[in-house]
Amino acid sequence: MDHFLYKGGILHAEDVPLPQIAAKVGTPFYIYSTATLTRHYQLFKDALDGVPNLVCYAMKANSNQAVLKTLAGLGAGMDVVSGGEYARAKAAGVPGERIVFAGVGKTRADMRAALEGGIRQFNVESEPEMRALSEVATSMGTTAPITIRVNPDVDARTHEKIATGKSENKFGVPVARAREVYAEAARLPGLEVVGIDVHIGSQLVELAPFEQAYLKVAELTRVLRADGHDIRRLDLGGGLGIPYTRSNEAPPLPTDYGALIKRCVAGLDVEVEIEPGRLIAGNAGLLVTSVIYLKEGEGRDFLIVDAAMNDLIRPSMYGAYHDMEPVVQAAPGVARQPFDIVGPVCESGDTFAKQRDLTPMRAGDLMAFRSAGAYGAVMASEYNTRPLIPEVLVKGDHVAVIRPRPTFDEMINRDIVPEWV
Ligand SMILES: *Cc1c(COP(=O)(O)O)cnc(C)c1O
Repeated sequence: MDHFLYKGGILHAEDVPLPQIAAKVGTPFYIYSTATLTRHYQLFKDALDGVPNLVCYAMKANSNQAVLKTLAGLGAGMDVVSGGEYARAKAAGVPGERIVFAGVGKTRADMRAALEGGIRQFNVESEPEMRALSEVATSMGTTAPITIRVNPDVDARTHEKIATGKSENKFGVPVARAREVYAEAARLPGLEVVGIDVHIGSQLVELAPFEQAYLKVAELTRVLRADGHDIRRLDLGGGLGIPYTRSNEAPPLPTDYGALIKRCVAGLDVEVEIEPGRLIAGNAGLLVTSVIYLKEGEGRDFLIVDAAMNDLIRPSMYGAYHDMEPVVQAAPGVARQPFDIVGPVCESGDTFAKQRDLTPMRAGDLMAFRSAGAYGAVMASEYNTRPLIPEVLVKGDHVAVIRPRPTFDEMINRDIVPEWV
């Protein structure tokens, strides 16, 4: 559920009509709903009620400071995957003890910054990383709390580019080698084992792969405790999928996901951490774009819009589907017809949808792409010297630009021409 509804035939973000925002900030732009972000975070909190837990928002999904502050204010922790994200989390006021640090390529500088600023735990992904962290922590005279990310060799049954829990993926250490790696962690100075971490992929639309992974982690908890390790936290990752179409998709609900977690950890007396990103932010955002031209082709009509693949790369990168709707609804009874929705970038891959049935649209009409709040703005680039598009946050009838569109001069002036050119 989200808070983007038609009122009087006009699509609103909470209480604000989208045409009003478009007139103010220009298109294209991203718009996020505070009520939806809040609701999605709360769904996870409610689903885990009864077990000690921390919901660490996976901020790579959408890391705007205003979004982070909104969630942090509700008590969310953050899952960060880079030194930059760690800095963003701190800048949004998230205390170190609510930040977990994931990622296969943490640098020593990342480790140092997190140890200095405070960190709940590092989710260590390999032995070389573990040894580096031991050295960094020791050299600073401190101790790094760690979990080891295990790779359960489970098929998440999602898009291959976002599956992370199979043995051929670069993430984590195989469950079969976990005892060995934990034994080394216990021997190394400067490290304190606090738990186990797992994350098998993104946009999972079934619970079964989670269950397979979590049961392996529960079993491993018993084994590692018997080996003498203090396994007190289980970080169960993120990845719960969202509906990208309103019609035929029904991914599992957070309540059922929470119930599954409770079943898997029953009797273990652990604190549970989860790292949802997409489910919190995805359907809390739209991309709003204008039709520049209607180009009537040979047997195919193109709607050329002012958003492009550099603004939202998911369709060209993952073949992703986004629901698209006119911001101003057509009169009742107007028939839909198929359009290709394309952007202005000079690549055929700059296609958002092919043969999508829409009510007729014309130049100047506004269109909304749904489910664009996660992995949208954060994956944008300035390809074709297209400015990063503004992000707007709504709360009730409050509207604020939370990242402005840069001017051409600002973009150009970032380049430096050496005097010897
Ligand atoms: C990407 C990622 C997540 C979030 O995945 P979603 O599908 O957005 O919920 C959580 N944890 C880790 C380690 C990740 O890399």
